[in-house]
Amino acid sequence: PSYIIIGAGILGASTAYHLTNEGEDVLLIDRNDPGQATNAAAGIICPWLTNRYNKAWYKLVEAGAKYYPKLVAQLKANGESTTGYHQVGAINVFDTDEKLDRKMEVALKRQASTPEMGEVTRLSKVETKKLFPPLKDVYGAVHISGAARVNGAELRDALIRGGKAKGLEFLNGDASLEVDDSKVTGVTVSGRSYRAEKVIVTGGVWSRQLLESVGLNFLVKPQKAQIVHLQMPDTDTSKWPIVLPPYQQYMLTFGNGKIVVGATQEDDVGLDNRITMSGVFEIFEKALKVAPGLASATYVDTKVGFRPFTPGHLPIIGQVPGYDGLYVANGLGASGLTSGPYLGKELARFVMNQSVSINIKDYDVANAFG
Ligand code: FAD
Repeated sequence: PSYIIIGAGILGASTAYHLTNEGEDVLLIDRNDPGQATNAAAGIICPWLTNRYNKAWYKLVEAGAKYYPKLVAQLKANGESTTGYHQVGAINVFDTDEKLDRKMEVALKRQASTPEMGEVTRLSKVETKKLFPPLKDVYGAVHISGAARVNGAELRDALIRGGKAKGLEFLNGDASLEVDDSKVTGVTVSGRSYRAEKVIVTGGVWSRQLLESVGLNFLVKPQKAQIVHLQMPDTDTSKWPIVLPPYQQYMLTFGNGKIVVGATQEDDVGLDNRITMSGVFEIFEKALKVAPGLASATYVDTKVGFRPFTPGHLPIIGQVPGYDGLYVANGLGASGLTSGPYLGKELARFVMNQSVSINIKDYDVANAFG
């Protein structure tokens, strides 16, 4: 192939999809590591209420959310009806009028230049509880109609299927890099060699080991996340909005009474993918404080995923310094389902030497090598 992509989370899948859509010859390889971020992710696409003021980061998540409807329409037009994406809106809930006023102001200001946010509405306590009945009755909310949920695994699979329809080759296996001097010539999987002009590494937190094997010190760090799946019997939760409570916790529903609450943010535990008592306890405790009505829900499962963070918590994308033919994108952190499909499109354009809309210098790969 002309291109080999290592890692088929949301980023690699999107890159492969966009490259094959341009008629390129692509081999996508994935090892299906336990803890793949895309598999465990919650799926909130609502970047506009953030308190984080890093411009380069915000540009990516904003463009990412904007790109979704277009990508989903394109997939549907090509027969991919299961994309896992639904615009169900989000409510940012607050227990005082003062906090609500402040957030309304921020939201309205952003909405002026961001039509994809849809309607911004202030909701009373009664209106808020009506939209998400398990909530405690003390919250008013800022409602954003353009917010969406996405099932990361479903979208990833739709992108891979869409790519395959255009000739994408997919291989399940453990890839290592083949290097000749400072030129990357291809990869090895299960003792077999595959040659390519360009190799793209989108291996999430596992990219560190892969790049280490050719002597590179790649500074991606895993942040472990545990996330709880619940089930509300006999309840149609399919259209409930995403709930963004005041602290780092959230809840969102899928069809068939499924509710997802999370997630922990555990630094410095490496790639330990166990479900722990303290992790689940923290999630339950915070969720029940905000939504006591969840107490009677069925506990189904806890998933574990590793958010890939690069220095400064800023994504990186580009060619690896000192290595011909080697490209890397990483660091999608806690917002990669939002930015990933868009960044994959940009990465595909970049490796094809086409013009890109992002300023590559803002996401300089050199920052991620020690
Ligand atoms: P991954 O999805 O981790 O994929 C990397 C893949 O590369 C893996 O499958 C791995 O097996 C493969 N790989 C690595 N090395 C090799 C090799 N040598 N050979 C073969 N394969 C290899 N983002 C949002 O926008 N909204 C959310 O609501 C949200 N919620 C989240 C909740 C949780 C619990 C978690 C963990 C993350 C959440 N995120 C969210 C963030 C988002 O999931 C990630 O940023 C994103 O999925 C990262 O995608 P990725 O493709 O870079 O990595």
